[in-house]
Amino acid sequence: AKELGRGTFAYFTQELTQAAARRMRLESRLRRAAGEQRLRVVVQPQHRFGDAAPCGGEALLRWHDEELGAVSPAEFIPVAEACGLIEPIGRWVLEQALGIVATWRQAGWRDARIAVNVSARQFSRGDLVATVQAALARHGLGGDALELEVTESVLVDSGAEVAAALARLRAMGVIIAIDDFGIGYSSLGYLQRLPVDVIKIDRSFVRGLGRPDGDARLCAAIVAMAHHLHLGVVAEGVETAAQHDALQAMGCDRYQGYWQDGQPTEAMEVLARWRRASTV
Ligand code: C2E
Ligand code: CA
Ligand code: CA
Ligand code: CA
Repeated sequence: AKELGRGTFAYFTQELTQAAARRMRLESRLRRAAGEQRLRVVVQPQHRFGDAAPCGGEALLRWHDEELGAVSPAEFIPVAEACGLIEPIGRWVLEQALGIVATWRQAGWRDARIAVNVSARQFSRGDLVATVQAALARHGLGGDALELEVTESVLVDSGAEVAAALARLRAMGVIIAIDDFGIGYSSLGYLQRLPVDVIKIDRSFVRGLGRPDGDARLCAAIVAMAHHLHLGVVAEGVETAAQHDALQAMGCDRYQGYWQDGQPTEAMEVLARWRRASTV
């Protein structure tokens, strides 16, 4: 048992060292990539049910590093949040996303909108409202071109500053969506307390839809609750026709996922799809 204990300890130590080394490497490579503008923004189209033409899309970061290869945002965003890089990167994504939606609108897609993920730290540090306002003005856009996706962690236990920031963004016409709704938190009080517009049902709830053993009741309950509160509902991670049909039957408002559009893609490709689907 003593042997095992020591071996296990050595094993964990090695694992921790490796994880720490990976983290440090990610941080330094990411710092360089951000400085040299080597990140990319792709778009996942969103649709209203019954509409093959997209109504807009979600901006998602991509990073292909020369040495590390493709690194998932699920891995590098937490690193960026921990080391403070998320603020410049977040501003850069906002700038790219508004450039994209401005191009779409100039091309005739008048009501196009882009959704941008916003980290908790962008809310607490730096003036998000002023940043958004300046960026919209720079691109000649109204707030209706933008949707901000914030996670529940921003909203639960949030103070008066967050409420004020949300109210000001909303007054500009910006839509506020709650990302990854239903995972990790059990508090719902903020839904009543804060000015939000949309709930995004997390992929983990969508996954089970349309399977014989899948539980549709949870999704149906989220949609019903959202509508009772006069909130819109967006479903993410829709991968099958059965999931799409189940969500449509529940009265869900919008969806995104591989079923309709495959992997997130170039902004100009999304415009092309809008053109094809709307000029019948
Ligand atoms: P998220 O906001 O929940 O984004 C949805 C994720 O699901 C994306 O992964 C997207 O590519 C993926 N996805 C979309 N449709 C499907 C589908 O049908 N099936 C499956 N299996 N997956 C689908 P991605 O791009 O790897 O992003 C991961 C997370 O990284 C995002 O989760 C978001 O939390 C974060 N992230 C990405 N870009 C940004 C950004 O610019 N800023 C911030 N703060 N976070 C970002
Ligand atoms: Ca999101
Ligand atoms: Ca999400
Ligand atoms: Ca998610």
